[in-house]
Amino acid sequence: MVEAKIVEGWGFPSNSKKAHYFKADGRSLCRKWGSFRVPLEQGNDESPDNCVACMRDLPKHRKSKK
Ligand SMILES: [Zn+2]
Repeated sequence: MVEAKIVEGWGFPSNSKKAHYFKADGRSLCRKWGSFRVPLEQGNDESPDNCVACMRDLPKHRKSKK
């Protein structure tokens, strides 16, 4: 079985100290970052390293996908 490619999740842009949540279109939830090149991961939604704005918008984002 082929592992599904993660198309959205948390990632660290190279010049950011915080992790931002990137959507499938490559833009962060806080709209300050855009990247297709950072490795993304799921989970760690409560990490203190996460961008506060991205964390705040994540539940809304998850709901809007359905
Ligand atoms: Zn962010």
